[in-house]
Amino acid sequence: MPDLRHTDIQYLHGVGPKRAELLKKELSISTYYDLLYYFPFRYIDRSVINHVNELRGDEAVIQLKGRFLTFNTAGEGRKRRLQALFTDGTGTIEVVWFNRVASIQKTYNTNTQYLLFGKPSMFNNHLNIVHPEVDVVTTENVAQGLTGVYNLTEVLRNRSFTSRAIHKLIVTLLETPAVQHIDETLPPELMQRYHLMPLPDALRNIHLPSDQQVLQRAQFRLKFEELFFLELNILHYIKGSTRRLVGHVFSRVGAYFHDFYNNILQFPLTGAQKRVIREMRHDMGSGKQMNRLLQGDVGSGKTIVAFMTALIALDNGYQACIMAPTEILAGQHLETIKPLADAIGVKVALLTGSTRKRERDVIHEALMNGELQILIGTHALIEDTVQFRNLGLAVIDEQHRFGVAQRARLWSKNRVAPPHVLVMTATPIPRTLAMTVYGDLDVSVIDELPPGRKPVTTVLRHEPDRFKMYQFVGSQLKQGRQAYIVYPLIEENEKLDLHALEQGYEQVRDVFPHYNVAMVHGRMKPAEKDHQMMLFASGKAHILVATTVIEVGVNVPNASVMVIEDAERFGLSQLHQLRGRVGRGADQSYCILMARSDLSRDTRHRLQVMTQTNDGFVVAEEDMKLRGPGDMEGTQQSGIAFNLHIANLAQDGQIIQMARNAAEDYLRDDPQMESAWGRKMAAHIREIFDKQTNWGLIS
Ligand code: ADP
Ligand code: MG
Repeated sequence: MPDLRHTDIQYLHGVGPKRAELLKKELSISTYYDLLYYFPFRYIDRSVINHVNELRGDEAVIQLKGRFLTFNTAGEGRKRRLQALFTDGTGTIEVVWFNRVASIQKTYNTNTQYLLFGKPSMFNNHLNIVHPEVDVVTTENVAQGLTGVYNLTEVLRNRSFTSRAIHKLIVTLLETPAVQHIDETLPPELMQRYHLMPLPDALRNIHLPSDQQVLQRAQFRLKFEELFFLELNILHYIKGSTRRLVGHVFSRVGAYFHDFYNNILQFPLTGAQKRVIREMRHDMGSGKQMNRLLQGDVGSGKTIVAFMTALIALDNGYQACIMAPTEILAGQHLETIKPLADAIGVKVALLTGSTRKRERDVIHEALMNGELQILIGTHALIEDTVQFRNLGLAVIDEQHRFGVAQRARLWSKNRVAPPHVLVMTATPIPRTLAMTVYGDLDVSVIDELPPGRKPVTTVLRHEPDRFKMYQFVGSQLKQGRQAYIVYPLIEENEKLDLHALEQGYEQVRDVFPHYNVAMVHGRMKPAEKDHQMMLFASGKAHILVATTVIEVGVNVPNASVMVIEDAERFGLSQLHQLRGRVGRGADQSYCILMARSDLSRDTRHRLQVMTQTNDGFVVAEEDMKLRGPGDMEGTQQSGIAFNLHIANLAQDGQIIQMARNAAEDYLRDDPQMESAWGRKMAAHIREIFDKQTNWGLIS
């Protein structure tokens, strides 16, 4: 039996070397296996026929049945096109082809009944449809139920490689003995427990479903399989390899921790904070290296948790470092932590790119001799020149700015064994998804805000409301509050954006002549930026006009209003992060999203999500639905960009959970994957994942 993975697609009847080359280049289909796993991206119900007089031009895809009235060519040279008029008896629609004009004109005529398939649009006030699929009406294709639609490229379409052509190849492929006798990949117990469709059936039905129900079972089977192998890979190989890493044993909680907890800490910890600290104590005492992700919404109090975890390291004779993505944030951490550390006699220092050489030398020295216990800083921390005497814990704040590779460099800061690693993020994605996306990390969640926080009131406003918006901001300032006014800064047109920001700054100064206005943006020198931030943080400036540099972590509890200009240009998660800058004190806070009036439906919906909820999980889930998890901040650089054929991490949460459970159950019975099925699946996993991903783990 030829092996599907190693049989070149050119040998499939109807392909040949030329088309094979196209398939390879355009769709990365090189083998029988690749084609078999090239699934339709959607299905059309061929039994539904639309009517021209009911079309509005915004339908996704439609099917029309009727005939052509006329064919005309228009335009010259590269603009040459074929225009036809098509009628189904209820009205007419224009059909346009820009390529293969001559051959199309030869193929179709005005006497035959056709089925047209495509996406209609409104063009110059009349309906048209560009490059539809055209089928001669036969009894078969009208009666036919669901038909898969395959993703194609423009190049393929121009070479008359239509979705139907792919379909034909698939039919041929499904008839080959290699596919007919394809091996089941999942053990029988699993098939039974989850009522899974056998693999050969699933593959046939994903391409040629007889009805909706069968299609759903096929999809479930294939998604489950994909996620099951993904989870097995994570649990067995990824985590397996980190689990084997020896860790420094922090066996006790000592004087620093107790002194701080009993005498310095001003507020009771929330239940969630306590639980998370317990989880980490357990990890760090276990003898294995901790790799933990701490998720907590903005304002949930991650900093104090990081600090107290660091104290456990100190209590066991180790050093700790805390790494932040920007100088401002690193500086803020220092400001928060230094007084607490001073109070219990712990030595802390700040190291960033702008730390002077002389100071730097002092820090290096103090790190080496162990005098310096906690180092806070930016990327500067991971430079090779920074050597610790005995680093036991590395905290990374706001994970999404750091890649796996950078995390890895922290590991080498202790020559005996890597330090324990705590990664903190405010991007709250569902737990099982987090465990999947950040495959090598264990996940802890702070799912509770400190008591007394009032939810931020969020509203959506447009340009005509600007004056009222300023009035409102004014009324808050009058009560002694402070306000943020945020502008987007997107790199491609940085100049334009900078201009908008500066104009905004001038306008705000004109509107509020009696208040002090500070401004920060990414193009400023760090010293100037810090100075402006300081003005706002100390209350000397009442308004801060800023770009997203204030996005993460900045803490000014007296600020009660945040105005976000051009809000439509921000992602949901980013808006949520920004909004987290207010609502940090006891007062009611407000977030005003200023957006264009003519928003698309999607954009309006996106912004309305913000006005309806303060829950970071809800925001994150909406964000994922709209953008997919790959785009989410936090997952982009997690280093785990896997290539799923059919499962969707954003939408298949339940199946992810099932697959996770199934993988855990499986490994409980066969932890080394040594049984016959275990070995078979291990080989399969290597086949799937070794090619795809470099998980970036360090041996
Ligand atoms: P984030 O999780 O966004 O990093 P922070 O650590 O900056 O949040 O905490 C936000 C604010 O809440 C800080 O001013 C912090 O001192 C305060 N805080 C943290 N934990 C508690 C608690 N248990 N009770 C009251 N306030 C708390
Ligand atoms: Mg923080």
